[in-house]
Amino acid sequence: MSQINYSLSSYERPKLKTPNGEKKLLLHSCCAPCAGEVMEALAASDIDTTIFFYNPNIHPVEEYELRKEENVRFAQKLGMPIIDADYDRDDWFKRTKGQENEPERGKRCTTCFDMRFERTARYASENNFDIISSTLGISRWKDMNQINDSGARSSKPHNVPYWDFNWRKKGGSSRMLELSKKENFYQQEYCGCVYSLRDTNNWRASKGREKVERGVKFYQEAKLKLSQSD
Ligand code: SF4
Repeated sequence: MSQINYSLSSYERPKLKTPNGEKKLLLHSCCAPCAGEVMEALAASDIDTTIFFYNPNIHPVEEYELRKEENVRFAQKLGMPIIDADYDRDDWFKRTKGQENEPERGKRCTTCFDMRFERTARYASENNFDIISSTLGISRWKDMNQINDSGARSSKPHNVPYWDFNWRKKGGSSRMLELSKKENFYQQEYCGCVYSLRDTNNWRASKGREKVERGVKFYQEAKLKLSQSD
């Protein structure tokens, strides 16, 4: 395991505790920029954490691979196990059929969260994890209540509690940006699915802006190897 410098420039990192002293956490991760701060906070709190990368919503597959690789890179740096779950996008398209034109934070997003949490909770239950959580809620673009409702609802049938910790608080949001810069994470410009890419591009066109350019690292402007085909 490589050495991480946990000293922070802007605040003291608090030690976290799981709600009821649960020992083994399965953390659903959506991408490195959101997960980085959460993973580091958990590592610094000595909470036994495994990352679960299950995001069949991400489109296209090259984007999915890139987001996953970035997450794997940081997990390896922390010495944190990461599980690469299926990319069963056919199921994702089946479940979101009829919701193609829902806005972000609407019904399609609830379906998308439910699908990812159900799978996370099922894996946790089958593999003796005590609790699950997710990095999704740290993003200010997301509705935290929508995510937490989905987490609680989807994990219940599997008898695994969902930890609804607010990762944005106690400096989480600022640290998320700080860490993304430090680690030079790929910072995607759309949520993930083909519909969010379409809507982001439409919004950009209405403002006279260029289309989303996938695979560009914001902070160093270094282009990653990524097919630009949609
Ligand atoms: S906008 Fe994001 S959360 Fe909503 S359905 Fe698409 S990928 Fe899922």
